[in-house]
Amino acid sequence: MSEGPALDYLLTTDFRWTQRAFDLLQEELLTVDPHEAGGAPCFVISGPCPRCEHHMTDRQVTTALAGLAGPDRGAEGRPSAEVLLDVTCGCVGEHGNAPEGKVGCGASFRIAVVTG
Ligand SMILES: [Zn+2]
Ligand SMILES: [Zn+2]
Repeated sequence: MSEGPALDYLLTTDFRWTQRAFDLLQEELLTVDPHEAGGAPCFVISGPCPRCEHHMTDRQVTTALAGLAGPDRGAEGRPSAEVLLDVTCGCVGEHGNAPEGKVGCGASFRIAVVTG
């Protein structure tokens, strides 16, 4: 993938970033590492941003995991919970028109993580 001119900063929650993030997860380019921090499940998202493709990491702390556990039948009848993580690009790449103090390209996307 050749680097074109830097993308301008753009606040966007276009669904295609979510779709692209899903593809990146499937390709294992984007990874989600769960870990516990003081009893609350945390997730560290790491990989290329779906929009600008710069490397980024984002730390998410979930607080309402239990509330999301539905009666879904997981494998062997175990309940599974799907956690939705809203991630905003936090790359350190250069983007034109970025507001003062902002990092990333402005793209936000959603990742669904199945736990349990
Ligand atoms: Zn980005
Ligand atoms: Zn970027």
